[in-house]
Amino acid sequence: MLRQYELVDLVKSYDPDADEDALNRAYVFAMKKHGAQLRASGDPYYSHPVEVAGILTKFKLDSSSVIAGLLHDTVEDTDTSVEEIRGLFGEQVAQLVDGLTKLAMIEQKSVNNKQAENFRKLLLAMSEDVRVLLIKLADRLHNMRTLHFLKPEKRSRIAKETLDIYAPLAERIGMQEVKSELEEIAFREIHKEAYESIRARLNFLREQGSNIVPKIIEQLKKDMADNDIAAEITGREKTPYSIWRKMQQKNASFEQLSDIMAFRICVDDIAACYQALGIVHSKYHMVPRRFKDYISTPKPNGYKSIHTGIIGPENTRIEIQIRTHEMHEVAEKGIAAHWAYKQGQKAVGTNFRWIRELLEILEQAQNPEEFLENTKLEMYNDQVFCFTPKGDLIGLPINSTPVDFAYAVHSGVGDTCVGAKINGEIRPLRTVLQNGDQVEILTSKAQHPSTEWERFVVTGKAKAAIRRYVREHKRDQFITLGQQILERIFKGESLEFSEKGLVNVLPNFEAEGVDDIYAKVGEGLVTGWDVLKAVYPGYKQSKLGKVVKSLKVPGFRKEKKKNTPLKIKGLIPGMAVHFAGCCHPLPGDRIVGIVTTGKGVAVHTIDCKLLEKYADEPERWLDISWGEDAEAELHVGRLKVMLNNEPGALAELSNLIARSNGNIANLNITNRTVSYFELIVDVEVKDLKHLTDIIAALKASKMISYVSRSS
Ligand code: MN
Repeated sequence: MLRQYELVDLVKSYDPDADEDALNRAYVFAMKKHGAQLRASGDPYYSHPVEVAGILTKFKLDSSSVIAGLLHDTVEDTDTSVEEIRGLFGEQVAQLVDGLTKLAMIEQKSVNNKQAENFRKLLLAMSEDVRVLLIKLADRLHNMRTLHFLKPEKRSRIAKETLDIYAPLAERIGMQEVKSELEEIAFREIHKEAYESIRARLNFLREQGSNIVPKIIEQLKKDMADNDIAAEITGREKTPYSIWRKMQQKNASFEQLSDIMAFRICVDDIAACYQALGIVHSKYHMVPRRFKDYISTPKPNGYKSIHTGIIGPENTRIEIQIRTHEMHEVAEKGIAAHWAYKQGQKAVGTNFRWIRELLEILEQAQNPEEFLENTKLEMYNDQVFCFTPKGDLIGLPINSTPVDFAYAVHSGVGDTCVGAKINGEIRPLRTVLQNGDQVEILTSKAQHPSTEWERFVVTGKAKAAIRRYVREHKRDQFITLGQQILERIFKGESLEFSEKGLVNVLPNFEAEGVDDIYAKVGEGLVTGWDVLKAVYPGYKQSKLGKVVKSLKVPGFRKEKKKNTPLKIKGLIPGMAVHFAGCCHPLPGDRIVGIVTTGKGVAVHTIDCKLLEKYADEPERWLDISWGEDAEAELHVGRLKVMLNNEPGALAELSNLIARSNGNIANLNITNRTVSYFELIVDVEVKDLKHLTDIIAALKASKMISYVSRSS
């Protein structure tokens, strides 16, 4: 274990301005806080954070990161609070430790394999400061190095998690060395036999070849020198894990793999790369299909190099990579090296500022795509990741709500969701979800998707499902309503109503079936009279019908009025009488008669606006009143209704009216918005009180936001 002064010396070796005092205090703080806690190895627990801090000095991180490394488990595992750390070590260190503690909490939620990719994204998204991630990786690296002290079940779980989540993460942020080490340890744990056999095989080849790698290097050096190319040549055996991966990918046996040994030729510039390639290919046999030019076509993550396979010196199949020195630095050290080159720095990584600069690059979308491709944290700023109660991870666009979450789980869950528990607390369905939220959806079979939801959901899946539901169910309502309206109109005119008759006129309404006609009538796109006239082209409407039609009030029931005299007192005998279409007087209303030219007496309510027209002609006014039994016949009252635009609303309206013994004579949609319908509803009622009762019943409904009598 690193001693206190050794750690401080390490930091000061690359950062002379490091806060020596804070480092010393953090070392002692971690030691005291973890106290007598022990690691599985039997070491005192605090040896772990000290080693993690040591790894961070290898990354040449700033002292805040190293201090946070020392303190990274104190909040989670001891009685320390973030506040305490903030007080003692400042805001930066407190934020780093807080981030690490949050990651550790999320990590504890069980995450299955398929979710590994999402989980990686979550970790990236959660680590607002890339240093949090680097400390996390150092933490994992030390835990892997001491893995063998743990019990076997725990070992393989951690190893698997490392392969699935942490090694790819390390690769993403350009830490090739960390990635390789994590992979090798995990591989040895999970596939012990494969690991042992590959290693044995490598040992055997090494003995057989008796130092073949140096011999090949010597030969290649000579080849380059003979052609005046300045080159640096290295050679190595591949690691057991990378060999195993190749064997898997290519479904090849160990013997079939050509590149157990790989050699690298680094030269000064791109022209020299192709010269070197020419020399290699002209001197040695090339292995078909092993040639790849990533200089002219770099890999998506910016990797540049020429790869070729040859039967090389010593008659051995080898892989050769040819690249410039700069390409090499970038390939090995990732984005940090790229940045260092851009700055014209010679020694890569000697300056921890690259971390801050890395962050800057990551925050700017316009920076060189190729290097950001696999590394930018920003990538997931447009997503949130939440957990189901079982620990499955659900990735959603930012601003998603529990309804989006429910639909992402299953459309059946979405359709029936009534509420949500977020992190154990009941929250509104419109709540915006945050990274790491655990979401439990409460469902009820009685629930249906609501158009209200459409205003706050963000996922296409949720939107589509809600629209589909509303569309289908609204149509059902329109069909029922349209059929009722048509039946009433036909009956009112004493005409036979049959579906057969409608089938004949389908083309008139661009309808494919009778239901289409019903739906159009129900929705108010076509009037009932249009349909009647199409079915009975020669039909001559009654006089009253025409009046009604001109007022756009199809379905006005009138045969009674034709046949029975109106129960109104004060009329001049023999004079025709009709109700004015403007105010719909009902028994109970105070009424007045206006003698019109040619049409007899028109009955208005006393407060009808049209009466102003006759103010100067008192001779036309007739003082009339309702007869005793006026309510014995039905009258039409007109209502203005604002109905919420949601499934079931139209059905609710017609049910409520029917239950109050009213009949819908006609219904017109006058305005339609996302959230409500405006309707004019003509209802057959006995008298004013009847209509008032219906209004009260409608007002009580949650689906109806406004009702009033209309003229
Ligand atoms: Mn730890």
